[in-house]
Amino acid sequence: MISKKYKDMLSNKSIIRQFSEFAIARGAQIGYENVFDYSLGNPSVSPPQKFTDTMIDLLKNKNSVELHGYSQSLGIPAVREKIANYLNQRFGMNYTKEHIFMSTGAAGAIAHALRCVTAPGDEVLIFAPFFAEYWSYVNLSGAIMKVVPANVEDFQVNFEAFEEMLTEKVTAVLINTPNNPSGAVYTSKTLKRMADIMTAKSEEYGHDIFLISDEPYREIVFAGTEAPYVSKFYSNSICCYSFSKSLSIPGERLGYVAVNPECTDAEYIADMCGQVSRGIGHNCPPSIIQLAVAECLDITSDLSVYETNRNILYKELTSLGFECVKPGGTFYIFPKAPEKDAVAFCEKAKKYDLVLVPSDDFGVPGYFRMACCIDTEKAVRSLEAFRKFVQDENY
Ligand code: PLP
Repeated sequence: MISKKYKDMLSNKSIIRQFSEFAIARGAQIGYENVFDYSLGNPSVSPPQKFTDTMIDLLKNKNSVELHGYSQSLGIPAVREKIANYLNQRFGMNYTKEHIFMSTGAAGAIAHALRCVTAPGDEVLIFAPFFAEYWSYVNLSGAIMKVVPANVEDFQVNFEAFEEMLTEKVTAVLINTPNNPSGAVYTSKTLKRMADIMTAKSEEYGHDIFLISDEPYREIVFAGTEAPYVSKFYSNSICCYSFSKSLSIPGERLGYVAVNPECTDAEYIADMCGQVSRGIGHNCPPSIIQLAVAECLDITSDLSVYETNRNILYKELTSLGFECVKPGGTFYIFPKAPEKDAVAFCEKAKKYDLVLVPSDDFGVPGYFRMACCIDTEKAVRSLEAFRKFVQDENY
C-alpha cells in the first residue's frame, strides 16, 4: 500500500502554486508581459558577476575530480570556516567551523535543525503570518506545529498569545525575520522580550526551548529599518540561512545551519545534522556551489529593485485605501483585502490580470500577498490595473 500521509498531501496543494499556474496559463494567452504576476517569491535580479566568474573559474581551473566529487557530509571544511569567520566579524559571534553545517537552502537547514532539537510529538511554535511550507517542514519532522495568532498592528509578536501557548510541550520556536509574507522585521525590543520569556519558561519547565531562526531575507532590509542578528539575543538558538535570495541563486540550493556556540550541546548539533542527513537522503549540496559562494559571502545581487518596488506599490495601494503595514524588508507586501474573503478578492483580481495570493495559507485570513520581485516597469504598469479593479468593484 502506498503512503497515506503523502498521498493525502496531494489534495492539499499550495494555493500559491494554483495562482502561479493561472499566471502562466494567462501569459500563454495574452503574453506574460501583460500579466501582473505577483504570485511567486523568485528573485528577479541576476546573481552578482563575481558569482558567475567564480563558477567559470572553478570549472576551468579546479581539478575536476575534486570539484565534482562528494563534499564532506557536513560541508567543505574550508567553506564552513569562512562562513564562521564571516559571521563572527559581522555579528560579533564566536562560531567555529564545528558550528556550521552546509544545507540545501533554508528549507534543508530548517529540516535539520528541527530534527536535532525536537522529538516526535513535541510542539513547535510558529507565528502567523508564516511561510506556508512550515506546515510540511514541522509536521513531517514528527513534531507538531502550533500557530501563535498574528499581531496585525505591526506584525511583530503577539506576546500575550505567545506566553499562553509556550507550554511545557514546546521544545522549539521557529521564527522568520525579515518575514515572508508580511515584510516585517523583528526589532531588538521584540527579540529581547521573546528571549526573556523563553529563558523564564525553560527554567520553569526544566528543559531547553530552542529558537530556530529562518533568515533567507537577512540581506533584503530597507532604509530606516534595522535587522538585528537573532542569535545575539538568545543562547539556545540556531540560525538557518540561505543564499537563495541574497545571491539570487534559489535553484542552486545552498544555505547553512549556524549553531550558537553558547547553546546546550553546541558541540554536537552540526555533527548531528550529518546524521539527520543520512536518514533523509540529504548528503550535502554540490561542492562547486559551496566553493563559489564561499568567495561571495560579503556581496549580494543588486537588491535595490525590491525597495523601489516596495515604495511604488505601498504608496499606490495605501492611497487607494488599502490598509497595509509598511514592509521593512523582503520582497513581499501584505495588504488587508477590502473584503473579508481574500480568496474571492484574489479571484476577482484575476479579471484585471493581477495575480495576488490570498493569505489563508499564511495563517491570517483576509489579507493578500504580493511578491514584488518583478521588473519595476511592470510594477508601474500594474498600478492602472489596480485603480480599475478598485473602481469597478467599488472597494
Ligand atoms: N523560509 C522562507 C520564509 C522562505 O520564504 C523560503 C523560500 O522562499 C524558504 C524558507 C526556503 O528557502 P530556500 O529556497 O533557500 O530553501
